[in-house]
Amino acid sequence: MKKLALAALMACASHAAFAGDGSHWGYAGAEGPDQWAKLSPDNYACNGKNQSPVDLKGTIHAALKPLKMEYQAGGGEVLNNGHTLQVGFAPGSALWLDGQRFELKQYHFHAPSENLIAGVSYPLEVHLVHADKDGNLAVVAVMFKQGADNKALAALWPQLPKEAGAKAALAAPLSAAALLPAKRGYYRFSGSLTTPPCSEGVRWLVMKSPVTVSKAQVDAFAELIHHPNNRPVQALNGRSILD
Ligand SMILES: [Zn+2]
Repeated sequence: MKKLALAALMACASHAAFAGDGSHWGYAGAEGPDQWAKLSPDNYACNGKNQSPVDLKGTIHAALKPLKMEYQAGGGEVLNNGHTLQVGFAPGSALWLDGQRFELKQYHFHAPSENLIAGVSYPLEVHLVHADKDGNLAVVAVMFKQGADNKALAALWPQLPKEAGAKAALAAPLSAAALLPAKRGYYRFSGSLTTPPCSEGVRWLVMKSPVTVSKAQVDAFAELIHHPNNRPVQALNGRSILD
């Protein structure tokens, strides 16, 4: 099950299925989020009780340990899979969580944000997707608020492939560290992939502090994807959000 979730996550990237591919899924209409569970038996979890994204509110104060990231300049290529722009990482970057090493696999973007913080939507959110040796997933999410140009995105954006299904090698390897806010406080909850097959058991870590992005940078991303790529927030169903 865990291995399946990871395989699905990577497969969606590698066979470059994109919106418009009738066998796949999208963000509106007959292939939209409220239809995902019906599109394939593999998507049964999309109707689950522990789904992402969520509105982070009513948080419970807990003694969360500081996040330990060891990020290297390992991002070597960027893929436009029609759903998002995704930077793939070579082995060597990791998040330590619950005594386990979670390898950074890829990061990708959603505009507007998928998670909300106390009801607030942000213009852009990045998901840093990690997996441990057993295929358990941990996602670090960072919100972008409108402001100054984001330097990390300024290096990445001009290299984004314009066509769905296209991939480009990056001129220089990128580190995910450049996307993190200076303050590392975070919220934690248990959720799912926010795209089919919506597999649950994902450890979500949402950074409390946003970083900045310019309106021009958000617009450039939206122009490449052609539509909003955020799944609506899902019911908490009794889950606690720790902060
Ligand atoms: Zn995502």
